[in-house]
Amino acid sequence: MRKIALIAHDKKKKDMVVLVGEFKDRLKGEFLVGTGNTGKLIVKEHGLNVKIMASGPLGGDQQIGSMVTTGEVDTVIFLRDPLTAQPHEPDITALMRVCDVHAVPLATNLTSARLILDAILEEK
Ligand code: PGA
Repeated sequence: MRKIALIAHDKKKKDMVVLVGEFKDRLKGEFLVGTGNTGKLIVKEHGLNVKIMASGPLGGDQQIGSMVTTGEVDTVIFLRDPLTAQPHEPDITALMRVCDVHAVPLATNLTSARLILDAILEEK
């Protein structure tokens, strides 16, 4: 089972809904975890089973970073909005750092997300 984290900044949440819709059938049965608002939106729009963590600004990025460290997450899809200042930028940077420390694939935009999901869900 793949262990995939799904996170999207507010202006990228629509993109996340579109992305998950594209991969919905292949994501069923995988372990999915999301930050609070992103996770709830995916549950609402697609009915997938998603473990919901705290919202990003309240520490959800840190919770997912911790899961990367412990091996509970092996892929991170993080649709970032680089044009809007995020109050929790240090947490976002820390999450990306642990992905690199543990060589966990990290997509930060829609195009790289499609490529990574296509690759990891293909290998099954
Ligand atoms: P959210 O958090 O899904 O709770 O909005 C995402 C983030 O801002 O990192």
